[in-house]
Amino acid sequence: MSNSSRRAFLTAAVAIPTTAAVVGLTGGTAQAAYSWSRTLKEGMRGADVTQLQIRVAGYPGYAAVLSTDGVFGAKTKAAVKRFQAAYKLTQDGVAGTNTFKKIYSLQSSDNTPIHFTYAELNKCNSSWGGGKVSASTAKANALRLMWKLEALRHALGDRAITISSGFRSVACNNRVKGSATSRHLYGDAADLTGVHSFCTMAKQSRYHGFANILGPGFPNHNDHVHLASGGSTWSAPNCGVSGR
Ligand SMILES: [Zn+2]
Repeated sequence: MSNSSRRAFLTAAVAIPTTAAVVGLTGGTAQAAYSWSRTLKEGMRGADVTQLQIRVAGYPGYAAVLSTDGVFGAKTKAAVKRFQAAYKLTQDGVAGTNTFKKIYSLQSSDNTPIHFTYAELNKCNSSWGGGKVSASTAKANALRLMWKLEALRHALGDRAITISSGFRSVACNNRVKGSATSRHLYGDAADLTGVHSFCTMAKQSRYHGFANILGPGFPNHNDHVHLASGGSTWSAPNCGVSGR
């Protein structure tokens, strides 16, 4: 390699990171939240589309789940429109300056939505280990779940939703006599309490991307609402609803 082509190669190599703004500021612990470097619209694809999908996955429409596959299709466009409607933005289904600005206003430096934290999604341990998936997968699942919870919280008038149980290791799950197939073992389930009635939360959650909803009338679910991204059972008989 000649000196000039080597120089060109090195310049290209350092110029690559543009969108993934996870930067150690001091001592390697500080973080900057994710940011986007281009407008995203239908037909585009990429890791930045996946990051957008994670943040609008709480707006898939009734009884639907949005795929976070990095492909900006019609369903992603519809989800972006619902997000825009929820926050009174122009509903064009294009993620540009105003949409990203709203997302940034809802996003903490560790990429969690502002009203939920990793700590409250894991009262079992601090490592996220010992479940049915790797610690990093469990934590990633919890992040996805939190953005759906943020959508639910906003739809219910921005009032408090409390997580009574989130991720569980097998040991933690056994201690609370959880089901051996519980989604809590994957980090993608949360049990909710808070100011709303359980039926209010169980019914509204149907609009925000939760495939598994268990509430009042379902065995052992009269004192909380259980929501998960994975699974397919929806049952809260005392709220007059059940099905898939
Ligand atoms: Zn649960």
